[in-house]
Amino acid sequence: MLGRDVDSFDRELKHDPAVDDESHFVNATASLVFRRRVAAGTLRVTGTRGSRDAGGGNVLGGLILAWATSVVVCSAMLHEFGHAWVARAVGWKVIGLRWHWYGVAFIADPDGKPEKLWKVALGGLMATALLALLFLAGTALPAPAPLLFEFGFGLNAALLLTNLVPLRPLDGGHVVAGLRRDSSGSSLS
Ligand SMILES: [Zn+2]
Repeated sequence: MLGRDVDSFDRELKHDPAVDDESHFVNATASLVFRRRVAAGTLRVTGTRGSRDAGGGNVLGGLILAWATSVVVCSAMLHEFGHAWVARAVGWKVIGLRWHWYGVAFIADPDGKPEKLWKVALGGLMATALLALLFLAGTALPAPAPLLFEFGFGLNAALLLTNLVPLRPLDGGHVVAGLRRDSSGSSLS
């Protein structure tokens, strides 16, 4: 029983680079010393892992920063793509996306249909709402996904709420103005 115990410790030691070769000379009669060495080895491994984590902290920080940057850039672009997709659908001529100091903006020619502006504005809001929902769904994944996806959800939720404010030039302002015009138009006709 004891011998088998030691054998399994021995196998552990052989797989453990943190424990020096000297440990392999320990026999069953010196099992107490052996166990201490195992314990010391384990502690040393833990210590090594701890310092590795400190070094890996920079890598992890870099990865989180890269993730955050990608989420910001992709969220802004997909919001504008939402505008662009609807713009194309209502017959506007989409010219492209342009980067500004504050972010990205979608450029289009209303092509004689400026009254569709509210639908185009709604396209960006829908894209951001969809992204927020997708990020929210992502928070249900195992760790560390929740932390990463919560950032995307928070960002898109904030973007959506800000753009829902019914003031032009925010998307919400265009939607409200367009809906008001449409309802007054239908009451005239
Ligand atoms: Zn927008």
